[in-house]
Amino acid sequence: MTFKAEYIWIDGTEPTAKLRSKTKVLATGEAPPLWGFDGSSTGQAQGHASDLVLNPVFSCPDPIRGGDHVLVLCEVLNTDLTPHSSNTRAALAEVAGRFEAQEAIFGIEQEYTFFDGHRPLGFPEGGYPAAQGGYYCGVGADEIFGRDIVEKHLDHCLAAGLGISGINAEVMPGQWEFQVGPLSPLEVSDQLWIARWLLYRTAEDFDVSATLDPKPVKGDWNGAGAHTNFSTQAMREGYDAIITACEALGEGSKPLDHVKNYGAGIDDRLTGLHETARWDEYTYGVSDRGASVRIPWQVERDRKGYIEDRRPNANVNPYVVTRLVTDTCCTALEKAGQV
Ligand code: ADP
Ligand code: MN
Ligand code: MN
Ligand code: MN
Repeated sequence: MTFKAEYIWIDGTEPTAKLRSKTKVLATGEAPPLWGFDGSSTGQAQGHASDLVLNPVFSCPDPIRGGDHVLVLCEVLNTDLTPHSSNTRAALAEVAGRFEAQEAIFGIEQEYTFFDGHRPLGFPEGGYPAAQGGYYCGVGADEIFGRDIVEKHLDHCLAAGLGISGINAEVMPGQWEFQVGPLSPLEVSDQLWIARWLLYRTAEDFDVSATLDPKPVKGDWNGAGAHTNFSTQAMREGYDAIITACEALGEGSKPLDHVKNYGAGIDDRLTGLHETARWDEYTYGVSDRGASVRIPWQVERDRKGYIEDRRPNANVNPYVVTRLVTDTCCTALEKAGQV
């Protein structure tokens, strides 16, 4: 007896990496082993030394194939088994391990846009739909485009056992969101990559593509982000730690250090319009959707909880944003004795 393992990995495409996958047939009971691929076809190696290694890091049931089939998320290693230069998971593992005692958790809101050929799903041929305002969390065929795909994707994520916590229609027609978490830094990142793969794979069967392009339609249309919600044990217990984290993200060169790693094209999206803060300004505030970092109103009321970094683009690498936020905030909380 056999089962199919879909090996999924992150490639070397610049400036935004893509997902790749291929299938390995395994004998029933066999654990997915190390495998290899042609790095010269994924922007990860030169042709004369093209072999790279796939190291399984997370696996779950494959809801597309069903049965005993599995999805296997891999990190990319060199043939000497050191992390490849495109492997951003290894650096996160180090930082997450260093601050493990603070019990950091993340919930990431993944926004994305469906495309039918060259047009966002729901956009009329050669024109624009009615201006945005009625689409967010809307209902009805005049406002909602792609719900059957979204529902299928949610079911697939649940069947895979991912920690997906919700979905909603977004401000621009054809634009949607799902949330993964709250989970530990490595868990939320691994599971978000799998959820992204399932999104592309699910939409493929509807002849629709999904994109994480942060500004898929220029002009007066909302961009797509990946709001990153974050807390540590101390933040879940008290407001001083909430403020320490907000201040830490604004200190010195931190705003720019973060923003330049929050996804390609960040300055196109963080314009100060469309519920964003300008990319070159750092602010935080309660309930403020125009701030870089928002403290939800319940958090101020309860004097504890979590913060929302609203800056990351939809195309952000979750291994990078969770590493930066963990490092910046947990270092400051440690210094302040708020652990
Ligand atoms: P928004 O109002 O910004 O649209 P969402 O409901 O879409 O918020 O997303 C909020 C996210 O915050 C969810 O993924 C949720 O799991 C996450 N979250 C909730 N509590 C915490 C917490 N204590 N720490 C980190 N993330 C959290
Ligand atoms: Mn949301
Ligand atoms: Mn949203
Ligand atoms: Mn949000």
